[in-house]
Amino acid sequence: MGKLNEIAQKAYECAVRRGKIDPDNDSNNNLHRDLLEEVAEVFECTGEKSPHIKEYLDVEEELADVIIVALSTLHHFKCDIDSLIEAKMNYNKNRMD
Ligand SMILES: [Mg+2]
Repeated sequence: MGKLNEIAQKAYECAVRRGKIDPDNDSNNNLHRDLLEEVAEVFECTGEKSPHIKEYLDVEEELADVIIVALSTLHHFKCDIDSLIEAKMNYNKNRMD
């Protein structure tokens, strides 16, 4: 298992434990809304120190949340994230737009 898949597994287990993702019933999930809420939190940042993790800025913490929610969502979809990211970066490598 690749590193991103390992991180996603841990993030997913945490999201399930916290009640943010229902692994058994997608009608209880709103994964797009959850990601959008984390993106909105990035725009609310001031660039000050994070109130939760003092070694980082608030914007860094919220960008981490975007990544964590994206990884959890992809894991929920049973995606091989390491392969996906490699494929997408290869695709982007030659793009000019
Ligand atoms: Mg957040």
